[in-house]
Amino acid sequence: MTEHLLKILIVGDGNVGKSSFVNRYISGNFNRTYKMTVGVDFAVKLLHWSDEEKVRLQLWDIAGQERFISMTRIYYKGAVGCIVMFDISSSSSFLSCRLWKEDLDHKAMLPNGDTIPCLLLANKCDLAERAVSADTIDHFSGANGFFTWMEASVKENKNVGEAMRRLVQEILSV
Ligand code: GDP
Repeated sequence: MTEHLLKILIVGDGNVGKSSFVNRYISGNFNRTYKMTVGVDFAVKLLHWSDEEKVRLQLWDIAGQERFISMTRIYYKGAVGCIVMFDISSSSSFLSCRLWKEDLDHKAMLPNGDTIPCLLLANKCDLAERAVSADTIDHFSGANGFFTWMEASVKENKNVGEAMRRLVQEILSV
């Protein structure tokens, strides 16, 4: 039995749903029962990935430090994958994804020097008002080195587990 320990970052502007995402994924709840200590804490989940592999996930949410945009290297150290999240009803949160990705590409590297796999997640797709079209997201995702993008609704529990599964799959395949 192999056990992988994967440090995964969840980044994006404030209010896009990062804490809700982690809470939903870890505990299955939408209402907040979880809030991390600023900067130093992370949530853990153990996955039985296959007959031979277990995956221990460490999810690092930036926990209210979004205003610094550029995070410290400690936060990025040892990370092997990332979810960059925005709110589909907020164009400014979408525009910020470019900065988040640039910051990641400068600071988070795999031991071989490659950038870490990043999934772009368009949250709050339950909302009727959309500020960003699928075409725009698709183009942006491809042009900025995301391996894929997905729509999600943490509120309706849509694509939360699936986004994490795709990310873990990508991490284990590189
Ligand atoms: P964070 O600052 O990025 O950690 O965002 P939070 O997890 O604190 O969520 C910000 C707000 O968005 C909260 O009021 C959540 O209840 C709400 N929220 C999170 N996910 C969704 C979603 O999928 N749909 C809708 N409509 N609201 C959401």
